Amino acid sequence: MLLREVAYARPASLAEAVELLAANDGARALAGGQTLINVMKARAGSPDALIDLSALEELKGIELGTDGTLEIGAMTTYTELVQSSEARARPILGEVCAQIADVQVRNRGTIGGNICTNDPTNHLPPLLAALGAEMTIHGAGGDRTVTAQDFFLGVYMTAVGAGELLTKIRIPAGRADGFAAVTLGVEGTCIVSAAASLNGSVKIALGCVDAVPVVLELASDDEAAVRAAVASATLDPPSDVHASSEYRTHLAEVLAVRAVAQAAKNRS
Ligand SMILES: Cc1cc2nc3c(=O)[nH]c(=O)nc-3n(C[C@H](O)[C@H](O)[C@H](O)COP(=O)(O)OP(=O)(O)OC[C@H]3O[C@@H](n4cnc5c(N)ncnc54)[C@H](O)[C@@H]3O)c2cc1C
Repeated sequence: MLLREVAYARPASLAEAVELLAANDGARALAGGQTLINVMKARAGSPDALIDLSALEELKGIELGTDGTLEIGAMTTYTELVQSSEARARPILGEVCAQIADVQVRNRGTIGGNICTNDPTNHLPPLLAALGAEMTIHGAGGDRTVTAQDFFLGVYMTAVGAGELLTKIRIPAGRADGFAAVTLGVEGTCIVSAAASLNGSVKIALGCVDAVPVVLELASDDEAAVRAAVASATLDPPSDVHASSEYRTHLAEVLAVRAVAQAAKNRS
């Protein structure tokens, strides 16, 4: 047997989905299934019930405001972000989503699932942290909005509580962004990643060096300042079969410089 028996529901409204999640501690939201189903197949997780979000119109769509702000539904897939003309207002989004895994994963995987997983090797947590995204979370008490920095709490842990769903991600206007990663092969998992945003301030977010993206705010975007900021962050990343802690620390500096250089190029 591939999976143990699991209940399944496909609610037609956000209210119904939240009610189902709140009623059962063992229920889990199912978005693209590209992490959750694999976790279940590996017997690393075993929810009692899957609450499929695929029919929830409230979690879909990409809206571009007149001020350039993007509002992206949590169920938006990577492929939709790559192809959307609205998302091109913040081109780095499509550029990074196009680097995630393969076509099958990109067609099913969602922006909401990616950040709710908060796997430190995922591409989107550091990117959304650097872009200054805000997340809307819906529960029985209504909506609440948290910044990216308050959203990512630990490995596989976010501000989305029991009985709640991430509904949308708001990204402010801007184009001066960059992203750089060293991955396991082409389209592979990140060993270290860095995202940079130079829209009004200088912000860098480093991925794979801690449980949550490490966000650095700088006064200057020159290379020496970037190197000094990463060095003074006293990173202590884990060592594993792919990279030692020292190598990850070295990559963080190199990739931060590359991400900032790309962001500076996109500014001009
Ligand atoms: C072969 C392979 C390679 C991959 N490589 C990469 C990679 O290089 N970079 C990368 O970033 N990712 C990678 N991934 C992961 C992929 O991007 C997943 O799509 C993503 O991690 C989860 O998104 P999902 O929509 O599939 O979510 P699901 O797997 O359905 O859900 C993941 C978790 O998020 C929760 N969740 C989902 N949506 C919500 C919501 N709206 N509100 C609250 N909780 C929610 C679920 O309950 C579950 O716990 C890879 C996956 C595969 C299979």
